[in-house]
Amino acid sequence: KINCYNYSDSCTFKITINFIMLDLHNYIREIPNFPKEGIQFKDITPLLQSPEAMKTAVSQLLELIGDVKIDKVVAIESRGFLFGMLLAEKLNAGFVPIRKPGKLPGETFSEIYELEYGKDTLEIHSDALKKGEKVILHDDVLATGGTARTACNLVKKMGAEIVQCNFLIELLFLNGRNKLNSYEVASLLKY
Ligand code: AMP
Repeated sequence: KINCYNYSDSCTFKITINFIMLDLHNYIREIPNFPKEGIQFKDITPLLQSPEAMKTAVSQLLELIGDVKIDKVVAIESRGFLFGMLLAEKLNAGFVPIRKPGKLPGETFSEIYELEYGKDTLEIHSDALKKGEKVILHDDVLATGGTARTACNLVKKMGAEIVQCNFLIELLFLNGRNKLNSYEVASLLKY
């Protein structure tokens, strides 16, 4: 609060400090042909090594979510857990892991999905979400969208509401959004 010499006794100034934001693209490393031939793997470990980059990523992901009350952040094994937990803490929300089969110790709901070759399964604890709870679904990368779509099906089955599907990275050329067209989708870094 600053006293000033005009019509009123005092006035309040809002001071905005603009500083140069980190470009998070510089913290994503591309590893060609990992885990198999033809895949350009987006490695987020350089981002995890930098506290400034991590803070920037969390605050920008929170900006994507906006000012809504969230009950739970649901994140997908395993890299989704990294920022999923940080988001949950900042949103004052609970955290719910979606895992590969056989990893969760309690009773689970599961959903099978198609991969390029074969099938895979995701699981969630059957008591992890309540009907009507507001959920952010988070993962590190949105590629073809099959994984996120399966996770959304699990959340929906439990009667919770997906406020946003939230990703650090989106591979636009794979059109993963099309598989999530009944949900709001937001991502930070688009390739
Ligand atoms: P998809 O089901 O095709 O959208 O694949 C998404 C899942 O696979 C996410 O959990 C990602 O962690 C992982 N993933 C797929 N493609 C990549 C990539 N190019 N770089 C890093 N992770 C990827």
